Amino acid sequence: MQKIQTIRTIAQMQSLSKDWKREGKRIGFVPTMGALHEGHLSLVELVRPQCERLVVSVFVNPTQFGPKEDLERYPRNLEGDLSRLAERKVDVVFAPEKGEIYKKEHATYVEVEGLSSVYEGAIRPGHFRGVCTVVAMLFNIIMPDVAAFGQKDAQQAAVLRHLTQDLHFPIRFLVGLTIRESDGLAMSSRNAYLTSAERRKATVLFRALKAGEARIQAGERDGGNVREAMKDVLSGVPEFKPDYNDIVHPESFEKVNEICGDVLLIIAGKIGSVRLIDNLLVQQKT
Ligand code: AMP
Repeated sequence: MQKIQTIRTIAQMQSLSKDWKREGKRIGFVPTMGALHEGHLSLVELVRPQCERLVVSVFVNPTQFGPKEDLERYPRNLEGDLSRLAERKVDVVFAPEKGEIYKKEHATYVEVEGLSSVYEGAIRPGHFRGVCTVVAMLFNIIMPDVAAFGQKDAQQAAVLRHLTQDLHFPIRFLVGLTIRESDGLAMSSRNAYLTSAERRKATVLFRALKAGEARIQAGERDGGNVREAMKDVLSGVPEFKPDYNDIVHPESFEKVNEICGDVLLIIAGKIGSVRLIDNLLVQQKT
């Protein structure tokens, strides 16, 4: 099995990326917070054919966690991550310490206005500011030609696509499909927190999304009715406490009342102490 190079400093990563660029190698990049699962690995597979060198970052980014969130207990397993990536032709894992990325005097933050303040942004104030800041830094450190993000975090992908365009990063932006467990639960590092009883209940998000999709496919055009159909399924599992349950435009995240094009069904909430988020893109047949 190939041994992956692990880099922990910005200077070393930037120097290697510059060497690769001089050699004309296209660099692919998949940012992660580690505790890797098949969802992350699918992004590696998505980028691989488009680059000659591939970097995966593993960094639990403190600035995207709120004060009451799970930063301290977020699962960390770099050895396990390295062995999962070893079979996937990854060249470098960039795994800096917190103090390497955020120097004591750090004072610069990146914010995508508007889109960052609804849904996930409203429930988790400052979350997207943290995500955007670290991704902009990682883009400057790794200098990728192509980078991949998951549709699982659809709003994050929309925010980061905006950032990439607005700041003129010369990076091809890919979004990979959501990878699910066999019962429909979207894979997530946080699923590891679920008790077995909670794990069984957690399928309710996907079931609600599918119910919404079925209504649209049956010809329903009223957003309110589709929301109700999703809500009916969610209320069957009272342990699930929704933060939101809605139908939005897939890029702007504006609420959709009358369905006349592609829409995104979005759900997020908590089961016990575990926060779950999922979405489903419903495309109109042309
Ligand atoms: P995270 O480690 O949770 O920050 O996720 C790193 C990247 O993997 C993000 O672009 C996520 O959207 C993506 N990702 C997480 N879960 C999945 C999944 N189940 N399927 C596809 N991509 C995912």
